[in-house]
Amino acid sequence: MNAPLRQDIVEQEALDSSVAVSASQIDTFVTCNRKWGIEKLLGIKPPPKASAELGKEMHGVAENYHDTGKSPDRLTKAGAMFVSGLPWVAPPKSGTAEQRINFFMDGVQFLGFIDYRGKNVPGWDPEARVTRDYKTSSAPDKYGLFATNKDYAHLAALGGSDEEIRKRIFLSHPQPVIYATFDVMDTGDDVANLDWLYFWSKGKERAKPNRVVLRRAELEDVFEKVVLTPSKQIVRLKMAPPPIEDLEPNPAVCNKYGGCPFSGKECKLSDHQQFAGMVKKMNQYEQQQEEKKQMNLLEKIKAQNSANGSSAASETKKSEAPSLAGTGRVNPPESRPSERPAARAVEKEEKVETKVAPKVASEKREDRPVPGGGSRATVAPDVSDAQLGAALRLLRDFMLGRIG
Ligand code: SF4
Repeated sequence: MNAPLRQDIVEQEALDSSVAVSASQIDTFVTCNRKWGIEKLLGIKPPPKASAELGKEMHGVAENYHDTGKSPDRLTKAGAMFVSGLPWVAPPKSGTAEQRINFFMDGVQFLGFIDYRGKNVPGWDPEARVTRDYKTSSAPDKYGLFATNKDYAHLAALGGSDEEIRKRIFLSHPQPVIYATFDVMDTGDDVANLDWLYFWSKGKERAKPNRVVLRRAELEDVFEKVVLTPSKQIVRLKMAPPPIEDLEPNPAVCNKYGGCPFSGKECKLSDHQQFAGMVKKMNQYEQQQEEKKQMNLLEKIKAQNSANGSSAASETKKSEAPSLAGTGRVNPPESRPSERPAARAVEKEEKVETKVAPKVASEKREDRPVPGGGSRATVAPDVSDAQLGAALRLLRDFMLGRIG
């Protein structure tokens, strides 16, 4: 982003609900334009899920604890979960639970609630103001904002310290970017301290914090791409809703998180769109495998360097690393070592751009090509021989149960 984040835009009142967006709405939109449209334009709510209900219940326990100091009921699942995180929770009445967010930027109103915002959060300097979100998940390491989540393999593969990787992951998500932006605008400070406390909803109750410090300049760099651009698309679509079929589907995510509730019902994917989704999924899978291989190799090199101990030995190893890369295992000859991560990042960005770009109706429905006819550019891409081969390999992998 290029415009500085300003404090004077906080807490204006809503003019029109169609300009209001929340972080979760942006998340859904970026994940699948069509899913967002079914929920927000058609007003069809997904059926309640037990996991979401448990999450809501635990948030209620947390709010009550912060506001009143009342001990959570350990005999309930939600209470026991929250108790497992108490070592990282600020004392009751020391900050604000359910802090309201409400600010305008570039014609978009951002709304939301921060689970807790205040000082005295264990793990931080007692004077640090912390923005805290409580997350519940069956497997936080797999689904949360951690480098172990394979959705972030491309960000982890860019290398750097754990803190740098964490920053990259947080800065790629609308929710932490919106919350941190609100924080720096509200206080005028240059940093926002974020702490996402994850609770395991399955198995033995336990919790783990995920902390990061984001700077104003870092937020300004990403705000437009991660938050503002999709938000403006949302606002435009709310003001002039297109037919749902004209919103870009993302078949690669239909089976994620227990499966999309609109699959085969409100979302009518053509055969061609389903096929394109399988190709996309196969490509993502292969890319992730490649990134995993590179990460493993880099880890081995790092471990080897630290095992050598002395700085002289370390220097020798550093000079060896590029030549190892030159073998083609880390960086194949077609790209220079310094170029490859950047090229991959650009490639990823292009994919994201493609994914978030909504398809808006520009012609009458009867004028539009027949689904599966291959002429709707945004939803029915050309299928090359390579993609056909990839799709066949995907089918094979499904059969072998490698991915699902
Ligand atoms: S079924 Fe798939 S493509 Fe359709 S709305 Fe759901 S996630 Fe999107």
